[in-house]
Amino acid sequence: PEIPSRLPLRTLPVEVAERIAAGEVVERPVSVVKELVENALDAGAHEIRVEVRGGGLKLLRVTDDGYGIPEDELERVCLRHTTSKLARFEDLSRLQTLGFRGEALASIAAVAEVHLLSRTIETERAGLIEPALGITVRGGEIVERGRRARVHGTTVTVRDLFYNVPARLKFMRGARTENGHILQLLRRYAMGYPAVRFHLQLDEHIALQTSGSGELALTLAELYQLPLAEMLHPVHVSDGQHYTVSGYVGNRALAQANRQFITLFVNGRWVQTRALLDALEKGYRGSLSKGKHPLISLFLTVPPDEVDVNVHPAKTEVHLQYEESILAALTRAVRGVLEKSPALPEEVQFP
Ligand code: ADP
Ligand code: MG
Repeated sequence: PEIPSRLPLRTLPVEVAERIAAGEVVERPVSVVKELVENALDAGAHEIRVEVRGGGLKLLRVTDDGYGIPEDELERVCLRHTTSKLARFEDLSRLQTLGFRGEALASIAAVAEVHLLSRTIETERAGLIEPALGITVRGGEIVERGRRARVHGTTVTVRDLFYNVPARLKFMRGARTENGHILQLLRRYAMGYPAVRFHLQLDEHIALQTSGSGELALTLAELYQLPLAEMLHPVHVSDGQHYTVSGYVGNRALAQANRQFITLFVNGRWVQTRALLDALEKGYRGSLSKGKHPLISLFLTVPPDEVDVNVHPAKTEVHLQYEESILAALTRAVRGVLEKSPALPEEVQFP
């Protein structure tokens, strides 16, 4: 075969490199929502409101009442590798936050127009009356600055997602599909953080609302609009050292034909690590009819230095140091519930 001709070696312009790197973090609208909600949670928000228009391609807005971004930092948060959550590599092993890469806002700003408006809790406490600073970033450049009144917290508005990435736009499904992904994600974060009040608006429709009661069982009932209490079995297993598993497993009446009601958190992070999900499935395979999956909402807590969260830019994969015993514990936790659960018909329909 013919040897292909080669272009000379070059360093890519920053703007091109940014747009390429953004692809790993921002796969579709729901990825933007995930990053913005994680930032709101890291900021200690009690209430998180998400607004979506046109499947998220037209507009995505996340408003929180967290600690806010200081004015002198606002212009830099959209730069790559800027973060307030990590200073040294070693901090990764003590991580308490969902974010640590300092890449989400940079990635989003590389492929959309981003408007940030923020007021810190300190300026509010100090009684400063100057309205909050807002900036608009497009194609990585600040194109506008302005001031608007607001209480403490941050609002991030993302418009025209993928306007400069035609290949991504081409692969987007319709608004219904993207909205469905966003609803699934918000349900997961709402159950992961029962003490936070979540609100999701899809176009004109309020798709999800939780009370922030702090009770997981109540949050699940709010999310699925079902009187779930009798169908949920609490789980609590721990080896007292390397892991604790807590949460709920639904009985067989709640079994579904897909896996969207299976949620696992590791140290507050919703993960989709294959091995962990397989361990859960191993626990119910056999006690449910083929193709059925239970409602699972479990929280695995491990010491921060026994989990590696730096596996993939989307941060949905983790490596665990004591994986084997943890996998076995997850299987046992699920199996224990379903073996005890009476042989009810598998029939409840979720709305
Ligand atoms: P990371 O979360 O990994 O630090 P991001 O790009 O998501 O990276 O955010 C960059 C920084 O912007 C954060 O470290 C934080 O200081 C600030 N920030 C972003 N969103 C918020 C928010 N909703 N509230 C307060 N600070 C925020
Ligand atoms: Mg982040």
